[in-house]
Amino acid sequence: MAGNSGHVAGLAGLKLPIESHLLQAFVSEPVKPMIDTVIMSQSIHCYISQSDKGEIVLGGDPDMYPTYSQRGMALRTEEVAGQAIALVPALSRLRMLRCWAGTTDMSFDGSPIIDETPIEGLHLNGGWCYGGFKATPGSGALYAHHLATGRAHELAAPFNLARFANGSTIDEAGAPQGAGSLDAADRLSPLRPPRPGRVRLRPRPRCGPVPGRQSGRGGEPAL
Ligand SMILES: Cc1cc2nc3c(=O)[nH]c(=O)nc-3n(C[C@H](O)[C@H](O)[C@H](O)COP(=O)(O)OP(=O)(O)OC[C@H]3O[C@@H](n4cnc5c(N)ncnc54)[C@H](O)[C@@H]3O)c2cc1C
Repeated sequence: MAGNSGHVAGLAGLKLPIESHLLQAFVSEPVKPMIDTVIMSQSIHCYISQSDKGEIVLGGDPDMYPTYSQRGMALRTEEVAGQAIALVPALSRLRMLRCWAGTTDMSFDGSPIIDETPIEGLHLNGGWCYGGFKATPGSGALYAHHLATGRAHELAAPFNLARFANGSTIDEAGAPQGAGSLDAADRLSPLRPPRPGRVRLRPRPRCGPVPGRQSGRGGEPAL
């Protein structure tokens, strides 16, 4: 119930550790084929692709305040446009056709909640932030396992609701804080075996200072 998890849980008297924020998408006028992949920059938080109709599709940071308005702030349009032009200068002449904002349920550690709740019979698979599409097949299987057996699948177990009370929060790469060398890809390997020769990203914990950076909300992935 992205954007409405808090409302629906509230109907049952449950308060979730989730805030609802807007994430916008932007679409330009159509042009001839120029981008045949998805370009994504983690350092400036912008992603670009081209639709079959030729439109350039852009996305960036969420609007950084909780709201259900579904009217994105204009400042984000300007920022995402600037970031996209920094990545692909040829985009600077394009006119933007439309933009829209969807509501994303942001958990406080950036990871989803896949668990039963203290209310009997009420389960939750939510708090997917801005990564819920790509996780759907895997998370659906884990959620179904919990519903069918009454117990969390071992891969989903860390994504429990109690972590926000007991401090065992998870960084968004899926590796528990303090897990040291634990590799997120290893944890998911039963669902998606690693391909031979593949370079793996090893996440660092989100919290704490990052060497070489004056400030920041999290660690950089390191090879
Ligand atoms: C602009 C934008 C771009 C995104 N891009 C990506 C991306 O590139 N990759 C990615 O992985 N993720 C992306 N996401 C995030 C992704 O959309 C979400 O994480 C994901 O959809 C969350 O899944 P969900 O099943 O929790 O909720 P949803 O997919 O939102 O489904 C919730 C459903 O519950 C229904 N509902 C709500 N309230 C009630 C009610 N009271 N009663 C009954 N039904 C109700 C809604 O109508 C909806 O059908 C993007 C999101 C936005 C807004």
